[in-house]
Amino acid sequence: LEAKEEFRHKTLARDVMRPRRGEPPLSVLTQDGMTVSDAQALISNTTYSGFPVVLTPESQRLVGFVQRRDLVISIESARKRQEGVAGASCILFAEYTPPPPPSSPAPLKLRGIMDLSPFTVTDHTAMDIVVDIFRKLGLRQCLVTHNGRLLGIITKKDILKHMAQMANRDPDSIFFN
Ligand code: ADP
Repeated sequence: LEAKEEFRHKTLARDVMRPRRGEPPLSVLTQDGMTVSDAQALISNTTYSGFPVVLTPESQRLVGFVQRRDLVISIESARKRQEGVAGASCILFAEYTPPPPPSSPAPLKLRGIMDLSPFTVTDHTAMDIVVDIFRKLGLRQCLVTHNGRLLGIITKKDILKHMAQMANRDPDSIFFN
């Protein structure tokens, strides 16, 4: 392991991740605090391929990751088939949940579509390492955390854009050969 190479490129995960400073926060799902209507609004208002799931909006503790298409399909099929699932139904990603109050609509349990261990790096991880991990593991996205709090996301396309930028700046880099 040659440590020196790692310091040739100073770009860190936090420089490439979204959102950038000043951009709106990440679009996330919460483990058990959202309704079917909330999730449908998130789907209509964004085009992202996926959504991190956090414990609570305040904690930003990462719980998992849900692909957009799995969320769309699950909600559509639940609303067609499952008795009692309505816009006001809670979406639950937790493993164990207390029974809902008798008057509330049936909850929609979606733990099954959640990736329970999405790949994460810290905001201080050097981008050459992140690129290497994307290549070796064939990742589509990677989440960025700081002290266990979710900060951002890096997609494969973000990586490709970053690599194109770096190649322009530093065409001789062994990193891209
Ligand atoms: P792609 O990068 O292939 O276009 P997406 O459509 O998922 O994939 O993401 C578009 C952009 O938005 C990327 O720059 C990505 O970093 C960012 N992004 C992806 N998911 C989210 C999210 N849930 N909230 C905020 N930004 C996101």
